[in-house]
Amino acid sequence: MMVLYKPNIQFLSDHAVDPDKRRYAVAAEAPKHFIDIDFYGSYPYKELPRKYEDAVNKFSEDTVIAQGIVPWWIQIMEQRLTSAFKEKNLAKILKLSAEIGHYIADSHVPLHASSNHDGQLSNQKGIHGFWESRVPELLAEKEFDFMIGKASYIGDIPGYVWDRILESGAASDTVLKNEAELTKQFAPDKKYAFEERNGKVVRQYSAQFTTAYNQMLNGMVERRMRLAIASVAGFWYTAWVNAGQPDLKTLNSVAFTEEDIKEFEALNNSWRNSVSKGRAHE
Ligand SMILES: [Zn+2]
Repeated sequence: MMVLYKPNIQFLSDHAVDPDKRRYAVAAEAPKHFIDIDFYGSYPYKELPRKYEDAVNKFSEDTVIAQGIVPWWIQIMEQRLTSAFKEKNLAKILKLSAEIGHYIADSHVPLHASSNHDGQLSNQKGIHGFWESRVPELLAEKEFDFMIGKASYIGDIPGYVWDRILESGAASDTVLKNEAELTKQFAPDKKYAFEERNGKVVRQYSAQFTTAYNQMLNGMVERRMRLAIASVAGFWYTAWVNAGQPDLKTLNSVAFTEEDIKEFEALNNSWRNSVSKGRAHE
């Protein structure tokens, strides 16, 4: 699939963040990024039906949406991506590939599967961005290995999605517990520091605290990132296979509709100008 994705790597990188930008414009967007799995009891959450219709029948649609719907939304996006491959519509394939990648990756983040998603219930506010932004921004380039080999076909998509969600939910306890533990070992002026981020000096978790936390997690951030990459590749590949393996060299050339282009602009504007309509995350 290199012939399709490699030449479009810039588009995919740029638009992978569109779902987060959309949260500033559309209230219904936010629940697509997470699930508060602990709302449904304890691991392995047998009380929660894995099929959306069954979950809605049991808990009501309002409740299910309020707790977050990422596992189901990934499955809808996969169907859309499969259709786009069947249509051989390159613009749609690229847009959906970028966006499904976002939701899949979110589902690998432990705090996207926990009601205590930013440590707001345990006096650990900021931990969301700490795990998913600060740690990788400091360490990924230097220390993480993202070579994951070939994409694999995913035979059981719902089963695959739920396995990742259960892993994330289980890991969220460790994410929170370790930060609390490490905080006890650090003086406040050593935990935070004024350091540069995106060209600005901001108060953030110090490099020392961040490195120690990563060690304490025993490579969890890198492991989840590696698995997220493998999963995104697997979903792209699976959509192409399920669409009948259309010849990727003969796709219709990129032509975004007027509507697409307007949406890209609107996303950028609302993202720059307003406050998120959903919970904070990066
Ligand atoms: Zn997100």
